Amino acid sequence: MKDPKELMRTLKDLQNITREIFNIRLSINGSSKKINHLKSILDKDIAEFKALTKSRDDMQNQSKNKKEYIETLKKEIKTLRDKEKQIQTMREFEALDNEQNIRKEEISILENEVKELDLEVINQDKKIEKLDAKVKENEAKIQSEKDRVDKKLNELTKELEDKVEERKVIEPTIPKALLAEFDRIAENKNGVAISKISNNFCEECNMSISPHVANQVRRMNELIHCSNCGRFLYID
Ligand SMILES: [Zn+2]
Repeated sequence: MKDPKELMRTLKDLQNITREIFNIRLSINGSSKKINHLKSILDKDIAEFKALTKSRDDMQNQSKNKKEYIETLKKEIKTLRDKEKQIQTMREFEALDNEQNIRKEEISILENEVKELDLEVINQDKKIEKLDAKVKENEAKIQSEKDRVDKKLNELTKELEDKVEERKVIEPTIPKALLAEFDRIAENKNGVAISKISNNFCEECNMSISPHVANQVRRMNELIHCSNCGRFLYID
């Protein structure tokens, strides 16, 4: 069994590297999240752009179909009018006239619908144009941001590898169970597994430490945990 005082010195070295590793990982996560956030905004705009374009195309088609139908009705009216020349009785004439009027009314309704559809298509086109500009702007923004973040991520990854290598030099000098305990605490406590007692307080969690415990830590016959945050305690 190693001397606890010596172990604590090693844990302090381990702590310095572990905190750096923790912070680098935090930066890496933050950078990835930032990019993902930007991408999700862009994806939403692209989805809206597609939906608007589809609805505009649908309306254009409806308008086109209605215009074609209007032409058909006009042709039918012309045919009916031509027939008028051959009829004999008033009743037949009224019937033909009625047929034409039905079509004329239908045309008038259709023409109003076409007018509304065409106006709405113009409105949608304006919206689509705006959104298209926004999407292009955001795409450019994301690309430059991504380039920047990728460069930073490369640097951070390199830094992380170096630190992990540095840690590997210290790791074998610490008993396995203690190392595992240290890592578990660090993982749950923002990368910090040891804490200094200053003025009878645990520096990390700010809980007061009894003089009795402070004395135990000073003697360092064994490693002592803060009863509040669980970190290994030391005193200078
Ligand atoms: Zn504490």
